[in-house]
Amino acid sequence: MARVYNFSAGPSMLPEPVLRQAEEEMLDYHGCGQSVMEMSHRSSQYEEIIGGCESLLRQTMQIPDDYDVLFLQGGASSQFAMVPMNLKKNGRADFVLTGQWAKKAYSEGKKFLSAHAVADSSDKTFTYIPKLSLETFDPQADYFHICYNNTIYGTRFHELPDTGRVPLVADMSSCILSEPVDVSRFGLIYAGAQKNMGPAGLTVVIIRKELVGNAGPEVPTMFDYKTHADNGSMYNTPPCYAIYICKLVLEWIRDKMGGLSGMKEYNEKKAKLFYDCLDRSQLFKGTVEPADRSLMNIPFITGSDELNKKFIKEAEAAGFVNLKGHRTVGGMRASIYNAMPIEGVEKLCAFMKEFEAKNA
Ligand SMILES: *Cc1c(COP(=O)(O)O)cnc(C)c1O
Repeated sequence: MARVYNFSAGPSMLPEPVLRQAEEEMLDYHGCGQSVMEMSHRSSQYEEIIGGCESLLRQTMQIPDDYDVLFLQGGASSQFAMVPMNLKKNGRADFVLTGQWAKKAYSEGKKFLSAHAVADSSDKTFTYIPKLSLETFDPQADYFHICYNNTIYGTRFHELPDTGRVPLVADMSSCILSEPVDVSRFGLIYAGAQKNMGPAGLTVVIIRKELVGNAGPEVPTMFDYKTHADNGSMYNTPPCYAIYICKLVLEWIRDKMGGLSGMKEYNEKKAKLFYDCLDRSQLFKGTVEPADRSLMNIPFITGSDELNKKFIKEAEAAGFVNLKGHRTVGGMRASIYNAMPIEGVEKLCAFMKEFEAKNA
């Protein structure tokens, strides 16, 4: 059976060596006679898995010691609410509205505090990252929220805002582990795992320790970061299997991809290939301001709904699946996360050229 090239925005492809290893270890993990899915999360074997995953993530992202790493559930969407529940002090926070996920973080924030949009790129359907000016930032804000990579619209921050003493909070669901980042610039980073880290069901939070333990008494135990920080993400049953796959993905990044700097080089090569293919085409066109282009999600169009449909259909038949754009953008979107092999991008580009020649 041939595997397809899956350009889905998430859940997305996992590295084939990771799937193979998971297959090998499925019925009998390291001689213990059971799968990781079946074992007690309190067993020494599982402690090794979750501990290994955390220390690998710390190594890979060079997470400073004054940060906690939490393995939670509920998706990035739960973090839109958990962040204000835990970081609220003065009751104000700043948001940059760069797309649907950023807007969701903003509207959830509004339920808990006075949320202020410092900039907004909805005037051009989020095809660019708005310029930020320091004077509009609230120096008393409890946090400043950005969506680092906008999965739906295909833009990303290339420069981080300087928020001074206000903790910068970033939704990195669709770009975490795609390149090195300076974790110390952030108060809190969160990500749903299903784009670049592993399967759905795991949500990773990386939080500066001084931001943990400030939740009010009304915050439910499970939604208090301190609960999870104090218990090594084992207050209750963690998403065991997703954490195990995440560990394998981190080993793959370390052993096969040259860590995050190697990963960045590989991702830049793939993205350049695809953007060049769009820029040279007479038919296909990227939708995003070139300076703000994402490394991971690339929306594009033909200018005709009919041709878009035809392209998506023929691409799927040729083994390039999930190229349909988000319903709010239309057209196509190619998500080329870490696990998308460069051959997938090369072959898609060749297929696009062929399609263009036939439909000129
Ligand atoms: C996918 C995604 C989300 C939603 O994640 P869930 O884990 O499904 O809640 C939030 N933010 C960004 C940037 C995403 O890409």
